[in-house]
Amino acid sequence: AKSQGANRYLFFNDSMNKQAVKRLQIENLIRYGLKEDYFVVYYQPKMDIVSGHLVGMEALVRFITPKGGLISPASFIPVAEETGQIIEIGEVVLRKACRDVKTWIDQGLFHGRVAVNLSSRQFSLPFLCELIDDTLQQTELPSYHLELEITEGTVMQSPPQAIETMKKLRARGIHLAMDDFGTGYSSLAYLKQFPLNTLKIDKAFIDDMSNARGRNMVDTIMTIAHNLNLTVVAEGVEQSEQLDMLRKLRCDVIQGYYYSKPLSAADFSQFLQQQKQQ
Ligand code: C2E
Ligand code: CA
Ligand code: CA
Ligand code: CA
Repeated sequence: AKSQGANRYLFFNDSMNKQAVKRLQIENLIRYGLKEDYFVVYYQPKMDIVSGHLVGMEALVRFITPKGGLISPASFIPVAEETGQIIEIGEVVLRKACRDVKTWIDQGLFHGRVAVNLSSRQFSLPFLCELIDDTLQQTELPSYHLELEITEGTVMQSPPQAIETMKKLRARGIHLAMDDFGTGYSSLAYLKQFPLNTLKIDKAFIDDMSNARGRNMVDTIMTIAHNLNLTVVAEGVEQSEQLDMLRKLRCDVIQGYYYSKPLSAADFSQFLQQQKQQ
């Protein structure tokens, strides 16, 4: 039994080492990327379900490798969250998103809101509001063009504190969206207390609309959200059948590959010009 225990210890130690090495590699890559400015922002359109017009977009971070390849956030955000590098990445994303949107507004191509994701770490920064104020000031973007996406998990870490921070942001004219709704710890009791503008239904629920139970679920979420006067965004909409069902359920806004994948700033600029001509 003793030797088995030792073996097991060795086994765990080995796989833990591999994980630690991988984590360290990603951490180094992020540090390098921050120094060399390899983080860029992609934009995914959000469309009004009734008019089919663009109402806004979500800013999504990408890592551009020196060879021009794209690394998706799923592979580096978890590490960045752990190391705290997400704070610096988040600052870069916010600054670039505000700068790009300011350009599109000045060109008369856009007048809506850009939604930027806030990680838990960022959301709990004591100087979050000051950081956002500074960024808006430096980029000369009026605060009413900004929306922040915060996950259920983030606000549920400490609801009273979250409400306080959210109120400060709202006082500035910034809109707030609850992201990935339904994936975390149920917060129905709190939902009405959070000063939100928007509720984003997670893609998992949209995927599940192929069956009646899944459709009922989305219907229920939609009813609750509308009772609370929230705008509902369905994310991950890929098929026209999903769009039809969401329209029947009176969803407000859709985001997904059905309309467009996330686009580089240059491609999004083209997208805006096409929209304008319609
Ligand atoms: P999220 O906030 O839920 O963002 C939506 C994700 O769904 C994006 O993945 C988007 O590309 C993807 N998506 C949108 N429509 C469709 C669709 O029709 N089909 C499918 N299969 N996928 C769709 P992405 O860009 O890879 O980002 C993944 C996650 O990484 C985000 O999930 C968000 O949690 C995080 N993330 C991305 N950018 C940032 C950022 O700047 N800051 C922070 N803190 N997190 C970020
Ligand atoms: Ca999001
Ligand atoms: Ca989401
Ligand atoms: Ca999601």
